[in-house]
Amino acid sequence: MESIDAHYRFLARPLAGVVRQASTTTLLAAGLAAGLAAVAPLAQADTIIDRANGYTLTADGTLQRFTSLAFDDLGKIVAVGSEKDTAARLPKAEHIDAQGKTLLPGLIDAHGHVFGLGEIASGVELFNATSVGGAVRTVAEFARAHPRKAWVIGRGWNQENWKLGRFPTAAELDAQVNDRPVLLHRVDGHAIWVNTKALEMAGVSRDTPDPKGGKIERDAAGRPTGVLVDAAMELVEKVVPLATPAEARSMLDNALAILAKMGLTSVHDAGIKVAQDDLYRDYADHGKLTTRVYAMIGDTGADFDELAKDGPLHSYGNDVYALASVKLYSDGALGSRGAALLAPYSDMPSTKGLLFYPPAEMLAKMNKAMKAGYQVNVHAIGDAGNRQILDAYAQLIPKYNAVGLRHRIEHAQVVTPEDIPRFKTLGVIPSMQPTHATSDQNMAEQRVGSERIKGAYAWRTFLDQGSRIACGSDFPVESPNPFEGLHAAVTRQNNAGQPAGGWYKNQAMTLTEALRCFTLDAAYAAHQENVIGSLEPGKWADFILIDRDLFKVPSEQIGKTQVLQTWMGGKRVYKRQ
Ligand SMILES: [Zn+2]
Repeated sequence: MESIDAHYRFLARPLAGVVRQASTTTLLAAGLAAGLAAVAPLAQADTIIDRANGYTLTADGTLQRFTSLAFDDLGKIVAVGSEKDTAARLPKAEHIDAQGKTLLPGLIDAHGHVFGLGEIASGVELFNATSVGGAVRTVAEFARAHPRKAWVIGRGWNQENWKLGRFPTAAELDAQVNDRPVLLHRVDGHAIWVNTKALEMAGVSRDTPDPKGGKIERDAAGRPTGVLVDAAMELVEKVVPLATPAEARSMLDNALAILAKMGLTSVHDAGIKVAQDDLYRDYADHGKLTTRVYAMIGDTGADFDELAKDGPLHSYGNDVYALASVKLYSDGALGSRGAALLAPYSDMPSTKGLLFYPPAEMLAKMNKAMKAGYQVNVHAIGDAGNRQILDAYAQLIPKYNAVGLRHRIEHAQVVTPEDIPRFKTLGVIPSMQPTHATSDQNMAEQRVGSERIKGAYAWRTFLDQGSRIACGSDFPVESPNPFEGLHAAVTRQNNAGQPAGGWYKNQAMTLTEALRCFTLDAAYAAHQENVIGSLEPGKWADFILIDRDLFKVPSEQIGKTQVLQTWMGGKRVYKRQ
C-alpha cells in the first residue's frame, strides 16, 4: 500500500529499473567515494591466521577460545584451534600473524536498510547541527559542492536540539538555496523540511488539504511553512526523481564500504524491490558484494509477484545473497504515536495509534507470502500491532505447517506480558534492535507509562523463555555500528553512558548472549546458521579483527571498539589504515 511505503520511504528513494551492465567501479573506488579506507580483496589461497585471541560460539551458545584459524582457497574454514592443529591441516598455507589481536566471527545485522544507508552517505547530514542557522549553512555548502544534483537531499535534523520551540521553515532554506529543490528528512524519518522550490514543484499550496495521517505545517494564513509530517511527506517525495542506475550503484557502493568498516559480514535488508534485487545479483555475479545480504521483499504487491515467480531464493553466489522472506508492516513508530497500542497513549489519551490494516487484510498478505513458501517478517512496534501479528501467525503457521520457516516479528518493541510466551510457542523470532531501547528510553516511557514499559525492549524475558533474538540496528534509523548495539545490549545505556546503572537493567543481556544475537541467532533468523554465524569447519571464513578484547575491557568501552580488518568468505574486504 502506497501510504505505508511512503511512511518509510526516507529509508531509500525507489530506484529506476536497473540496466544490467558490467561496472568498472572497484571496491577501492567505492571506499574512496565514501571517504573510507577499503582495500581490494586479496587473491585467494589457503590461509592460516596465527596468534589470534580468538572467540567463537558453539551451537548451544558456549564461548570457545582459539589462537589459529585455517581456511582453504574457496574461503571455507578447515580448522580452528591451536597453531599446531591448523598447520597440520593446511601445510602449504600462507600464514598471517594476528599479533595477539582479538578475532571474532563476522557480525550480522538482522534488520537494516542498505540503500537508505548508502543514500545518506551521498546526501547532506544534519545530525550534528546545533542551530537552524548552522543546518542551513551546511545545506548551502553541500549545494555549492554538488552543483549537478537536481535535488539537495539530506537527513538528520532535530529542532528539539535547536531550542526554537517551533519547526524550521522554507524561508530559512530559501535564503541560501532557492534555485533548486531541497528536501531534508527529520532524524526519525517522520517529517521533512523543504524549501519553497520543492513546495512549488510538488504543487503544495494553501489550497492543499492535509492528507489522512499527515499534516502540513502552516502559518496563520494557512500557507505551508515548509515542514510536512508523516503521510504529508509523500506530497513532495513523489516528485523526487527516481534514483538513476548510476546513483543506485553509488548508494550500494557507499553502503558496502560502511558495512565492511563496521565489521558486518552479513545484513538482512528489510524491504527491497525489483531494481534492488537486480543490483544485488549483479554485484554478487561480479564478486562485489563484500557483505552478505539476506533480503526481504517489500510487501506482497507487484514487486512480490515479479520476484516470487521462481519461489524463495535461499542462496545465490556462494551464499552472498538470498531472497527468501517478505517484509510487512502492522503499525508505525512510537515517537510519532503511530504504533498501535491496546490502550491509549499515556501522554495522549485521545489516541491508541493505528493498525495499518484491518486483521483480515493483514492476514491475507501474510497468507499470500506464507503460501508461496516465504518467511514472513512483520514490523510491529505497539502491543496491539504485535498482538495482531501473533494472532495471524496462530492461524497461519499451523495451516501451512510452517513453523520451520522461522517467521519473525521485526522490532517486537512493546509487547504485553501475556503475549511474550506466544513467540516461543509459535516459534516466532523476535528481531530486535538494542540501540532502539537506549535511544528511545525517555520518549518510550512517556508514551506507554511505567506499567507497559515492563514489556518493552524486554530482551531478558525473551531470552529466559528460550527465544532466539536476532539482533540488528535498523540502520540508518540508528548507526549501523554493531559494537554500539553490543554495548547497549549489555549495559542498557546509550553511548554516552546514560543513564547511570542502565535503563531497566534487569532486561540486559550478557556479552556472550549479545554476541550470539549478533552472530549465530541472526544467522538462524535467515536459515544460515549452517554456513555462517560462528567459526567452525565447513562454514565460510567470515571474521573480524578488532582493537580490544570485549570480554576483558570494562563494558563502557565495548561501543568504542574499532575494527582493524574484516574478512568475508576468506577474502579481506576492509583493513583499517
Ligand atoms: Zn526498519
